[in-house]
Amino acid sequence: MAVELGIDWAKAEDTLPAKAISAQRQASAARWNRSDEVSVCATVWSAMSLFRYIFNTSRKFSQRQETPAFWFMLDWHPMKNLTVLHERITRCRRCPRLVAHREAIARTKRRQFRQWTYWGRPVPGFGDPKARLFVIGLAPAAHGGNRTGRVFTGDRSGDWLYEALYRFEFANQPHSAHRGDGLRLSDCYIAAVVRCAPPGNKPLPEEFDACRPYVLEELRLLRGVRVVVALGKIAFDHYLRACLDSGLPVPSPAIQFGHGAAYQLPWGVTLIGCYHPSQQNTFTGKLTRRMFHAIFRRARKNLGRR
Ligand code: SF4
Repeated sequence: MAVELGIDWAKAEDTLPAKAISAQRQASAARWNRSDEVSVCATVWSAMSLFRYIFNTSRKFSQRQETPAFWFMLDWHPMKNLTVLHERITRCRRCPRLVAHREAIARTKRRQFRQWTYWGRPVPGFGDPKARLFVIGLAPAAHGGNRTGRVFTGDRSGDWLYEALYRFEFANQPHSAHRGDGLRLSDCYIAAVVRCAPPGNKPLPEEFDACRPYVLEELRLLRGVRVVVALGKIAFDHYLRACLDSGLPVPSPAIQFGHGAAYQLPWGVTLIGCYHPSQQNTFTGKLTRRMFHAIFRRARKNLGRR
């Protein structure tokens, strides 16, 4: 090769001594080898990037969202926000038992709702992206959230919850019937530990584990949260578990759930325990309106008004 890496050797041989030319050729070869390695690395890196892009955007991506690529995409995708997360959640099929149950309920329906087209999918969180109050429950009800597609909407527990949120100015109306009913939350966001309606309201341990990344991701995106109301002991414990998983210094020994028990957590959040407004609790008088309102009054007092 007469011209190699910008050096014209024919010309160089006329002007440089033999030793100098030999040294120049060796240095040039070394540079060429390094340059070659860099090119190969760049090609491999480009191929991997292309593969990752195709993988993430393929039509079957929704069925693979449990893979690390899903979280990788959430971290780096420019459209990263709650809406993107919600879309991923509603396509999730990670727990075969819950997928079968939620879809069976949606097919068979309850008699009084036979005119409905049930949602029959995972139910994402709902509310204000700038919320300071985060309310966390267990899972959607079979004929509530699993029918309407919005958390705590269309069941008796939701009637209690939204009435209380309205009373303390976290919601614009006290009723929650369906997704198009005009309900808006202000300074409040509601989510569940498990996003699919479970048989007997009892998710399995592995289903809690499978679904926990979603609440974890929501909490990461909701940067303004200052008060968490956990509806029931299971939600209380799993909120703390999600915090532990995200590396927060969860108190040890473990703090205990109780109705009205409030804890100031080291990361600046007040966690308040509240009995779940299930019919089992409200019909038996274990939870009264007064007790329930006291929780949200406290949350409002703690947060003040914006
Ligand atoms: S419970 Fe959660 S992880 Fe399991 S299928 Fe539903 S959304 Fe997916």
